[in-house]
Amino acid sequence: MQKFIIPEIIEAPAKGTIKGQDAKHASRVLRLKKGTVIEVSNGQGKDFSARIVSASADRIELDILEELVPATESPLHITLCSGMLKDKKMDQVIKDATQLGIRKWIPFFSERSIPSPDAKRMEKRIERWESIAGESLKQCRRSRVPEVCLPLGFETLLTLPGPFDLKLAFWEKASIKPGTLKGKETADRVFILIGPEGGFSEKEMDQARQKGFISCSLGPRILRAETASIASCTLIQHIFGDI
Ligand code: SAH
Repeated sequence: MQKFIIPEIIEAPAKGTIKGQDAKHASRVLRLKKGTVIEVSNGQGKDFSARIVSASADRIELDILEELVPATESPLHITLCSGMLKDKKMDQVIKDATQLGIRKWIPFFSERSIPSPDAKRMEKRIERWESIAGESLKQCRRSRVPEVCLPLGFETLLTLPGPFDLKLAFWEKASIKPGTLKGKETADRVFILIGPEGGFSEKEMDQARQKGFISCSLGPRILRAETASIASCTLIQHIFGDI
């Protein structure tokens, strides 16, 4: 059964409430009844068991019983940075990357990315991405919603303080395969760059290398940016994480 998110829960025992669309879904679709024990998460890394005390279409009251050991969070801390794409593609990236266990998502603007929308529109997009990440979390039973960051410029992105054990810039002209890094590197915190549809320029790749990024290949085929995001997260979770 899917997880429900109640950000206010810090510890057990406690009381909790599921409201709005989630309550409707729980009572009308899942037909959850008084007495049923379900799993809830605070979205910040803690899971709890909870018993339904009362259920109506707009409100489910819960007794939060006990904290559970989270089993779905990767030990690997992945920060995924995505060159800005059109709305639907960005939605897809955050949805899939959440399921692949990333901890942080930073969209960025670069030479060949789509132009920056105005600030007001950007605020709305961030809210939308946060909500997509939350929905994706419920479906994949994670305990921690990835942090969605304000988009940055490429140069600012390269100077983010970290700490990161491994900084990888995926580039279609690179020859290093990430699998060959295993053994040479131990990594708990990995920083991944995926370019926009137009890719990275040579100059941008030079800048990234100067800042300690390793340019890496995802094979001889050119992938769509959103496919490259999924492939890189899967691969890195496989090499250093829990896939
Ligand atoms: N416009 C470029 C491709 C950009 S693909 C061209 O047509 O040549 C978008 C992004 O996906 C790239 O910036 C890169 O980060 C990633 N990517 C796609 N295919 C890749 C590959 N084979 N190896 C590494 N990265 C890849």
